[in-house]
This record gives sequence, structure tokens and C-alpha cells, in this order.
Amino acid sequence: MTAAAVLPGAALGVLGSGQLGRMFALAARRLGYRVHVYSPESDTPAGQVADLEVRAAYDDLDAVRAFAHGVRVVTFEFENVPDASAAAAAECAPVRPAGAVLHVTQQRLREKLFLANAGLPIVPFAPVRSRADLDAAVAQVGLPAVLKSAAFGYDGKGQARVGNAATAQEAWQRLGPSECVLERFVDFERELSVIAARALDGEFRAFPLAENVHARHVLDVTVAPARVTPRVATQAVELARAVMERLDVVGVLCVELFLDRDGRLLINELAPRPHNSGHFTIEACATSQFEQQVRAVAGLPLGATEMWRPAAMANLLGDLWSHGEPDWSAALALPGVSLHLYGKTQPRPGRKLGHLTALGTDVDDARARVLHARQALTRA
Ligand code: AMP
Repeated sequence: MTAAAVLPGAALGVLGSGQLGRMFALAARRLGYRVHVYSPESDTPAGQVADLEVRAAYDDLDAVRAFAHGVRVVTFEFENVPDASAAAAAECAPVRPAGAVLHVTQQRLREKLFLANAGLPIVPFAPVRSRADLDAAVAQVGLPAVLKSAAFGYDGKGQARVGNAATAQEAWQRLGPSECVLERFVDFERELSVIAARALDGEFRAFPLAENVHARHVLDVTVAPARVTPRVATQAVELARAVMERLDVVGVLCVELFLDRDGRLLINELAPRPHNSGHFTIEACATSQFEQQVRAVAGLPLGATEMWRPAAMANLLGDLWSHGEPDWSAALALPGVSLHLYGKTQPRPGRKLGHLTALGTDVDDARARVLHARQALTRA
């Protein structure tokens, strides 16, 4: 344990109050910490299970300072907090990961330039700040491509597929004139993610690689361990290590990757916090991604990341509620299936309200179980 460890009993602060904060708070409280959360809303997923829920705007710097004064360390589950807010918090308590990490990862172009400068493998891209840039970018990157807002939207919002010059125009009309990035469309074999943690003393540990399937740009199902060669799995972990060391991250970080048809890994994006694709770690690993975040930001030793059983996770979006309350009993009657609900009261379509995890004898078995459980929720 490092000298600077924040021990159980102390208060940990979280900026943001969604489901990632809720699962962080649950892990922290199990370890005996107190948890304070901060966001512009009340009765939030994290606030419901925290010791204290502070409601204030992210750019209210005095409120941020007061919040940080009341805790021993500040972390976040929502990375789009203004730089000035992370700096204000840092005047009063250590912020982990540091504001500089947020700064890089909260803007797509900055993130890509960081990755490119670090010599890490990424999808060919070009910045687009004007109509003229767009033509040059198309010439440079090639088609098909994807135009993405440089400011990160959640879950595929703020991006448009570009197949030809006319769709490039349409995409720019929709997403411009704010800064965008044009990125080569990758005909990937699989989407993967690696979630890893780095401690105050630089110790690094990664969870088993996850394999992700998206539906309408939103994560739908994750299985782990990913069905890739040991070489690919090792390379993915080494990419995460390189990113975390370069950015000097203390905390948890997710690297989302494409595995292309030539067996090459390309980094799609970074999230400097636990990630939806790591929820399987709660049931399937010796330490969950949330407990790992607690340990890392508190300066404690990292936990073992070994997996007990192959696992699959399926998201529960608001759409499931379209015909009334899902049949929870039907899913809970299935052995080896765990239900997580986030305490959100408005089941809007597309909104993440919970997830299911199933363990299995192999990933196909786990996947079949989790999909069966999700279907059981809405079977009449
Ligand atoms: P993002 O918001 O960048 O993570 O994109 C959301 C999802 O859109 C990804 O997980 C992919 O499924 C898809 N996607 C994004 N960028 C590309 C790309 N360059 N090529 C192919 N698919 C992409």
C-alpha cells in the first residue's frame, strides 16, 4: 500500500451520477467507504445509493470546490465535465484520473491526435472544420467513411456514414459547422474492448478482453473472454498499457478496438472510467471493474482480474418497457442469470435502464443464456 492511500471509512467523491457511478458507489460502500456524488440532477442512479447526493451544475466552480472539500479523492463517471471544474476540484482534493486525462479523452480530435502522436494504431482520419476541409478529408481518408462530431456524443450520436460525395455533404450539413473528424469506415471482423486499471505506483492490470456487438450504435451484447487468438489478446492489453502509461492514468480506462479483417487492432476510442462492456466483471471476475476503480483511485493495491467463468452481458434499454413492466420473475427464475437495474424512473427508448449477466460453460453458452433471459422479460 502506498503512503497516500485513502482508507475505508473516508469519503470518495464522484462527478456524475449515472449507472457507472451507482455501481462504483455500491463497490465502494462494500469496502466501507462513504460516497458523495455530484451532478445537476437529483434522485439519480448513483445518488440513490450514495451517502450524499449534491445537485449543482458542472460549471459551478464554487459548488465543485465545496464538494471536493468534503471528500478525500475525486473521481468521475461522466468525463464531459469542463476542464475548469476538474481544476477547481483539484484545488481541494486529488482528482483521479487527472483533469489532463479528461481533457484528452473528452474531444475526439484531441484523442486521435494523442494516439497518433504516441504511435498507436488508429483508423485513418482527417479533421474537418469547414466545407473545404471536407473535400480534402474525403480525398485523404477515402470512402466509405464516417463523419463524427469532435465533441463526444454518447453512443453513436453525432455521427453519420458517408458513402459518396453527396452523403458527405448531407453529413456535414447535419453535423457541421462544429468541428468534426472524418474517419475511414472499417469493415471490422470484431469489436473488442480492454478494460484495465493503473495504480498510483504505476502497477497495471487488465481484465480479460471483451467482445462487443452494437445495435444502432449502442452496445447490445458483450461476451468475454473474446474469441480471438492469444496474440491479439496480448496486443490489446499492451495497447491499453501504452495508453495508460502515456496519459499517466490513475484509475480505470477502457480502450475500444476494431479487429480488422487482416488481424490488425485499431483503437476506436478511449473512456477513462469503467465501461458498459466491463459489467460482466461484477459476476465473472475476482474483482469487478468498479471495485478496481475504487482501489486505484484510493491508492490501494489493485485486485486480481482473473475470470471465474465465461460470461455474457446484455443491455436492457427503455424499449423493453414499451408493452409495460418487463417480467422480472421470468428472467430471475433462470439459473446463473443476474439482473442489474439502475433505478431510473423514465424508460425512454434507447435509454440504458439495466443489464443482465449470465455465466456459462463457454461464451456461446453464456450468450445463449443471457439472450434467453432477455427474451423471457417480454414474452407474453
Ligand atoms: P463510436 O461512438 O465512435 O464508438 O461509434 C459507435 C459505433 O459505431 C462503434 O462501436 C462501431 O460499431 C461503429 N463505428 C464507429 N466508427 C466506425 C468506423 N470507422 N468504421 C466502422 N464502424 C464504426
